[in-house]
Amino acid sequence: MAMLPVLAASEEGAAKVPASGQSHVGSTRSTRSTRADWRWQMRHAVTSLEALEKALVLSDDERAGARRAIDEGFPLSITPHYLSLCDRHDPTCPVRRQCVPSAREAIEVHGDLRDPLGEEEHEVAPGLVQRYPDRALLLATDRCGVYCRFCTRSRMVGDGGGAMPNERLAVALSYLRAHPEVRDVIVSGGDPLVMATDRLVALLRAVRAVPSVETIRLATRCPVTMPQRVTPELVRALRKLHPIWIMTHFNHAKELSRASDVALRRLVDAGFPVMNQSVLLRGINDDADTLETLFRGLVRRRVRPYYLLQADPVRGTGHLRTPLEAGIAIMERLQGRLTGIALPKLIVDTPGGKGKVPLLPDYVEARGNGVTTLRTFRGERVDYVDPPFTEP
Ligand code: SF4
Repeated sequence: MAMLPVLAASEEGAAKVPASGQSHVGSTRSTRSTRADWRWQMRHAVTSLEALEKALVLSDDERAGARRAIDEGFPLSITPHYLSLCDRHDPTCPVRRQCVPSAREAIEVHGDLRDPLGEEEHEVAPGLVQRYPDRALLLATDRCGVYCRFCTRSRMVGDGGGAMPNERLAVALSYLRAHPEVRDVIVSGGDPLVMATDRLVALLRAVRAVPSVETIRLATRCPVTMPQRVTPELVRALRKLHPIWIMTHFNHAKELSRASDVALRRLVDAGFPVMNQSVLLRGINDDADTLETLFRGLVRRRVRPYYLLQADPVRGTGHLRTPLEAGIAIMERLQGRLTGIALPKLIVDTPGGKGKVPLLPDYVEARGNGVTTLRTFRGERVDYVDPPFTEP
């Protein structure tokens, strides 16, 4: 079993966000009490209906949704930063719809699943999920700054468990050492960047010490929901553990705030490849113009739009999901209109954890006798003729 750095219980997280009720839990580690301090952001996250009512003019649907979320469902937490991006009066605001609960979360539709990616079934060690031969997912914490209403892991995030205890991590590390075929570890959660820096670095260092692990991917929404977390201190600590890839998650250009610009610039300047995974969400970003603006904005900030994910069929998210054809039609509109570096892959993560499948518009019109007729983005038909040689 691995020797793990000893971490004091007080180092578990920066500021505990309760699963429900009021926030404003004090942190002994806060040195500055300003909005620019991520600990302040965590302590002042909105987690109660009263605080939400003060910040936004709520619709009946949102009020009922917030009440339900706090009482029985998937908890509410919105950082002051993310709340500042929400339109105070408009419930259709694309940022607001991602973080403010709706009463429709109580509705389960055909195909909804509690654990859509079968992560529990593919758990090979505590908090370690392996669905592919060469990579594994480490669920480092259950906590996030903002609980996104479409979250694939709504079954577990915000449950109050916090960061993964050392004993569980040790078992996960032993598994990685015993399985050298795993070369890529995705550290996710929850959001691992809500962990205290020393605790996060200790965890990453332990993963990095597994000889067969080549890349570590850090999956975080902090550049979007709490960009104040990307401090120079954090970046200095993480860059010692390169290669680390940052997988972030912007869904709408409205989320590209000035604070996010600073966070992204710090990460990219420090040599972290930053990749973005957007989730296609009904009424939030499910049109080509909205996504074009987002993808162009990301590329300008040196962030690669990597995946456009079909929303997973998480129970209670039917109102946020789109039919598969919607994503294909959007990709067809963006093909040729957007530079290749701004064009993500459209992906369906198949229910049950069977793996990701890329979806493409069908550009093949006919095929036979070594000739394939292709349809271009302008709608022209062009023949591609195969070479006559079949031998190498
Ligand atoms: S930050 Fe990620 S893990 Fe946390 S609620 Fe949002 S989508 Fe889920």
